[in-house]
Amino acid sequence: MSTAPPKLSGIKPKLSVLKHLNYRREALSLSRFFKKFELHHLQTGFYLPPSYVLWDSTRRCNLNCRHCGASKEHYDTELSTAQVQDFISQVASIGTSTFAVTGGEPLLRSDLIPILSHAHSLGLATGIASNGFLLNREKAFELKVAGVSSIQLSLDGDETTHNHIRRNDLSYQKVIQAIAHCREAGIPRLTISTVATDENIHILPALKDILLDNGIAHWKIIPLMPIGRAEKTQLLQSKSLLHKLLNFVADHRSELHISTGENLPYLGEYELLVREYPTFCPVGFSACCLGVDGRIRGCPEMPDTQDFCEGSILHQSFDEIWQKGFARYRQALLKKEDPQCKSCNLWSNCRGGCWVMRLAKAHCIKELLDE
Ligand code: SF4
Ligand code: SF4
Repeated sequence: MSTAPPKLSGIKPKLSVLKHLNYRREALSLSRFFKKFELHHLQTGFYLPPSYVLWDSTRRCNLNCRHCGASKEHYDTELSTAQVQDFISQVASIGTSTFAVTGGEPLLRSDLIPILSHAHSLGLATGIASNGFLLNREKAFELKVAGVSSIQLSLDGDETTHNHIRRNDLSYQKVIQAIAHCREAGIPRLTISTVATDENIHILPALKDILLDNGIAHWKIIPLMPIGRAEKTQLLQSKSLLHKLLNFVADHRSELHISTGENLPYLGEYELLVREYPTFCPVGFSACCLGVDGRIRGCPEMPDTQDFCEGSILHQSFDEIWQKGFARYRQALLKKEDPQCKSCNLWSNCRGGCWVMRLAKAHCIKELLDE
């Protein structure tokens, strides 16, 4: 691992021609997707359906983590099993291919298995994101039988650090057991998700060894989002911390597949060192989120407020919401309204960054990296 984080201008990436070519090919295919999306709308008057939808299933949780982004809103009621299954039928009928469940803790929904089974029966790939505490052997096998294709478990450090962040002395032990149960049950894809903060950045090398020892091949490291209990964080304003994180990913991604999350959209000279393909915010183009109470918004990390609401499945069909909503994302409003982005030479690589990070003015990677 690098001892000192280099400045952006100090990086001299040694990348193979093949890596550059692959990245260019991916960038080209992404730009074709945006063109196709626009053209389809011009020709037919309709937008192509999202390829994946997320369901923010509940705001209940069995843990009380320090950095949780889901603590903001409170709901008296949640969608019923029938309402969620009807939503799934609607998205399957328009061509969506993936349904993923987040929260809160999805395993606290007693109807999670029938809901996932319904999605699977309609041909959708399904996934859940869980803290792993309740994922015992029996549940892992139930999820496998329900056809779940991927499970993402949260692990934020070694035993001491993870238990401190999760405020529970058993949480580390439980998630390590959950990994073993998922592997035994044969869940096709298992990913560990880590929220990077100043509390655990120094633990990443030790955590990598723990993941390798437990047979993990996919690791997603997400910089803390400025929402929920983490609203006041200054994580991404800490340039040295961001450099440390990106250097760590660059140094270790040959050992297991490490991704950084699309809330870091364009990473300047780090880009090809830490990922194989360009990443944009998918909201309104290929993704959206069903909220706890039936309102549709861009992604689970967006505050579930009226400002971010595109409509509700309690009053409209999903397709109507998808076709009539999401204008701000599709019209690249930021390019026109944000003077900084308007004159930025990275616009075509970045497109304004993450909408949630923007809420804390932590979206402009150019500003954050270029010290
Ligand atoms: S100014 Fe806008 S387009 Fe340029 S890097 Fe920053 S967020 Fe992205
Ligand atoms: S707003 Fe940010 S967190 Fe949400 S989908 Fe877009 S990039 Fe990801």
